[in-house]
Amino acid sequence: MYNIAVIPGDGIGPEVVKATTTILDKIPVEFNYTYADAGDECKEKTGEPLPQETLDIARKSDAILFGAAGETAADVIVRLRRELNTYVNLRPVKSLQPDKYGDIDFMIVRENTEDLYIGDEELTDEGAIARKKITRHASERIAKYAFNYAKETGRSKVTGVHKANVLKLSDGLFKESFYKIAEEYPDIEANDFYVDATAMYLITNPLDFEVIVTTNLYGDILSDEGAGLVGGLGMIPSANIGDDNGLFEPVHGSAPDIAGQGIANPAATILSACMMLDYLGENEYARKIENILIDVIREGKDVTPDLGGNSSTQEMAEAIASRL
Ligand code: ATP
Repeated sequence: MYNIAVIPGDGIGPEVVKATTTILDKIPVEFNYTYADAGDECKEKTGEPLPQETLDIARKSDAILFGAAGETAADVIVRLRRELNTYVNLRPVKSLQPDKYGDIDFMIVRENTEDLYIGDEELTDEGAIARKKITRHASERIAKYAFNYAKETGRSKVTGVHKANVLKLSDGLFKESFYKIAEEYPDIEANDFYVDATAMYLITNPLDFEVIVTTNLYGDILSDEGAGLVGGLGMIPSANIGDDNGLFEPVHGSAPDIAGQGIANPAATILSACMMLDYLGENEYARKIENILIDVIREGKDVTPDLGGNSSTQEMAEAIASRL
């Protein structure tokens, strides 16, 4: 039995999380869910976007399933990643509809603890300053994770992404660390691009990418671009992994424009739960759910409006659950 902390959060978060647990409840793996509050509504109710109790529940669990946070995202999800020291953010960009989007399949390995996302900002007389933190330790650690990931999954190339021509010291260190670690993996090709060029190559040559390793901010932006390549934000899952904790969440946010309508695409959260099953060692069920989801999307009948269907979030989930 696995203890799972479930943090549905705001907006479409509770809808896509419910759809996902409907599916998880159909596999012969026992989950003990502990629901915990966080996000905008929680802040309104309790005064705190991420109460200590939620943090404690998250820390004690075997894995965390997270929906979405709205305006308070920086105080909730960014803080959770930091508190739990989940230093790797994995964001697979995979086309589930190759006939529509091409056979795109690459992994973004995003450094999750530093960069501009440390939130060290201050007002000055002229305006404001934000500090960007890049350490040798975190840069080597994330590069190592990316090369190991490539090795274990049979990928042949890792691309480091930075802006070392302008940010000579900080991104320069990230690039240097990338190539230092690359030397330990002579069988895996290593190359690097500037982040602006990468943004273009993802559109012009998406099939050239296998594993991208990059800093926190660039990883955030490039993964939304990746979502655009394979059918939108409703399709991209993510995993936050550290030495002691795993937190799984869709890449999309709370999508206030469609919240409460029951039309959010649950695929990103269902795929995040598959990443959670992999993390827990339940790979067989991860593949099973993933394959059924792919079938349902390709058939195009029981899917949400963003995928061209008329089904609700919950109807799409039930169509998947009924085949398990
Ligand atoms: P937040 O501030 O919480 O990040 P946001 O609206 O700025 O919210 P997202 O929630 O990431 O950003 O989504 C941007 C848009 O993409 C949404 O407004 C919505 O139209 C669309 N979108 C996101 N997730 C989904 C989904 N699961 N299904 C369908 N459409 C989605």
